[in-house]
Amino acid sequence: MFPDFLIIGAGAVGLATALELTRRGARVTLIERGRSGAESTWAGGGILSPLLPWQYGEAVNALSEYSRALFPDWCARQQVLSGLDAEYRASGMLVLPPFDQTQAFDWCGRHGWRCEIRPRADFLPSDTEEDALWLPDVAQTRNPRLAQVLRGAALAAGVRIVESAEVTAMQASDGRISRVDTTQGDFSAAAVIVTAGAWSGTLPGLEVLAKRVFPVRGQMLLFKLAPEVLRNIVLQNGAYLIPRLDGHILAGSTLEWAGFDKSVTASARRDLLALAAGILPALNERVLAQQWSGLRPGSPDNVPVIAACPGYANLFINSGHFRYGVTMAPGAAMLLADLIEGRATAIPAEPYQA
Ligand SMILES: Cc1cc2nc3c(=O)[nH]c(=O)nc-3n(C[C@H](O)[C@H](O)[C@H](O)COP(=O)(O)OP(=O)(O)OC[C@H]3O[C@@H](n4cnc5c(N)ncnc54)[C@H](O)[C@@H]3O)c2cc1C
Repeated sequence: MFPDFLIIGAGAVGLATALELTRRGARVTLIERGRSGAESTWAGGGILSPLLPWQYGEAVNALSEYSRALFPDWCARQQVLSGLDAEYRASGMLVLPPFDQTQAFDWCGRHGWRCEIRPRADFLPSDTEEDALWLPDVAQTRNPRLAQVLRGAALAAGVRIVESAEVTAMQASDGRISRVDTTQGDFSAAAVIVTAGAWSGTLPGLEVLAKRVFPVRGQMLLFKLAPEVLRNIVLQNGAYLIPRLDGHILAGSTLEWAGFDKSVTASARRDLLALAAGILPALNERVLAQQWSGLRPGSPDNVPVIAACPGYANLFINSGHFRYGVTMAPGAAMLLADLIEGRATAIPAEPYQA
């Protein structure tokens, strides 16, 4: 019989963890300071892959490849449970120069990704004969919709979600978390899981985690064009455009070490506008709809912590997925649930130790 769980933080990672544990028969209460899915999970782009996977280490790629493989069925299951649509689709990604063709083809070949060199003009208005790298299998989801899907699925699956409840203290005795205090009263459970995103290292007693999980601000612009002006994700020099089905296009994103400051800045707006217009000239001030920022749960080399928390018998962490927490959510939830159950894990768990 699985113990009952208290999960702190209802972003993509907390919701995915709650869903997986519930699927395995556990009773789960999810404590959320604000509204479910309204922080980094809402703010993100929803590209379901590291931007250029060949630039990342094995720990990032093993987890994201595992999670990518789970994503279509996992997402479909949550859509059925919630009755909502996350707009999951393989829209493909076009990488504009510069890129290392040899490295890209080598990595794609070894990981079973389709990739080809195609003229830029096949995808974008273009007056050059430039070639680009086409990765047709890269998928995306629409983050605010995915957050609604996961929240709805969790409620339908029997997860108790307590919103507007900030965790203010964790009481420990005999190496166990015995009580979690929140602004809406105290909770206790056989085991506690921290999925508080960028704030994981600010939880009382978990300050030591701040070296492994820290906030990295990302700013984004949203444009509105007619549907299908752009059909695929486009990436150039680390900046990207992500088209949604209704004609909205996201342009992102900045990487800023600004603590917990979620302000948006005029300089980011100017830089992202220039990058967006450089790829698709129709993107300009007149069609700019919104600017926002979110705090990613940053981590060294983008390697999350998915493990038991040293010093406690019943405390676990699933946090620090940095730029790829939406991509990694189903895989990370599965990995942690397997570790808790003492089952063999589908990928090696050592790289994600606390
Ligand atoms: C601009 C931008 C672009 C991105 N693009 C992508 C992308 O294309 N693909 C991708 O895979 N990822 C992307 N990401 C990263 C991704 O969004 C994150 O890695 C992911 O959302 C992290 O999920 P999380 O659940 O860990 O954190 P969050 O979504 O931040 O959730 C943490 C939750 O914990 C709650 N919480 C915090 N403290 C407490 C407390 N004391 N008590 C109770 N609750 C608390 C918060 O309110 C929050 O709801 C992007 C992020 C940004 C900002």
